[in-house]
Amino acid sequence: MLVVASSNGRVGIGEAVRVLAAGGSALDAVEAGIQPVELDPADHSVGVGGLPNMLGQVELDASIMDGRTRAAGAVGALQGYAHPISVARKVMEALPHVFLVGDGAARFAADMGFPQQELLTAAARDAWERRLRQPASDAEPGLQRYYDAMRRLHERVKTAVDPTVPNETVNFLALDAGGHLATGVSTSGWAWKYPGRLGDSPVIGAGNYADDRYGAAACTGRGELAIRACTAFATVMHMRAGLAPDDACAAALQDVLALDDQYAGPFNIVALDPTGRPGAASNRPDSTYIAMAPGQSEPVTCPRLYVH
Ligand code: ASP
Repeated sequence: MLVVASSNGRVGIGEAVRVLAAGGSALDAVEAGIQPVELDPADHSVGVGGLPNMLGQVELDASIMDGRTRAAGAVGALQGYAHPISVARKVMEALPHVFLVGDGAARFAADMGFPQQELLTAAARDAWERRLRQPASDAEPGLQRYYDAMRRLHERVKTAVDPTVPNETVNFLALDAGGHLATGVSTSGWAWKYPGRLGDSPVIGAGNYADDRYGAAACTGRGELAIRACTAFATVMHMRAGLAPDDACAAALQDVLALDDQYAGPFNIVALDPTGRPGAASNRPDSTYIAMAPGQSEPVTCPRLYVH
């Protein structure tokens, strides 16, 4: 039994391990691990406190996949609900669908009894307002007025992509006592994104994939690249071909880094094979992930293979 997570999963990994130790499934563990991250207002990349889109609306994306059956559920651009990971799981379990977005996802969350709440915190609103007031480029004079930016939203989004803003996402992967794998991913996506934009996190095969036969993988970083390269699925297929998890992540990351993209930034993959061997890769040196098993009191911080 093991849980691995992106580093920002520290607030939830203990809970995920407790679920496994009590006999819970890998699916239960990843959901339980992600929920505290979604509620942490200090994490501006996930759930409550997530940075909003260009209009100041927090739009959340999440997906969950069961490696035992390869069933999956996902929500995208969900507003007003703090636990997109749990809504994604409900999509998987209560509907003959995999993926709901926008108003339909919110309607379904309400139907399922999830409480509605404000997700935009004062700190996230301040960061958004500060960013909006900055000139979109050196050529733009003075203070950019809100309504002016709104008129040219598509242009503004291109220049507002800010590599200094910590765009992250939380990844959780678990292997349970029955030998089953599951993966969960939750994010508020790119700060100041165009409304309705989806990254890789809710897209099965891009940001999340789990298959008991070969392994599980999840990504953080620029989702547009993971969608174009089908990165989580590619990582699992590299494990299917016999690569160790570290090497599978590195091989998939090389394909991501080969893509031409002016907004490319940090990109990370984490994987877990059916024997419980974890691995990870990053295009940033010194990048880490965390792992924890029942019986351990603290997660272990592990280095990601550096690919450049
Ligand atoms: N993968 C996320 C997205 O593209 C963001 C991130 O992890 O940086 O929405």
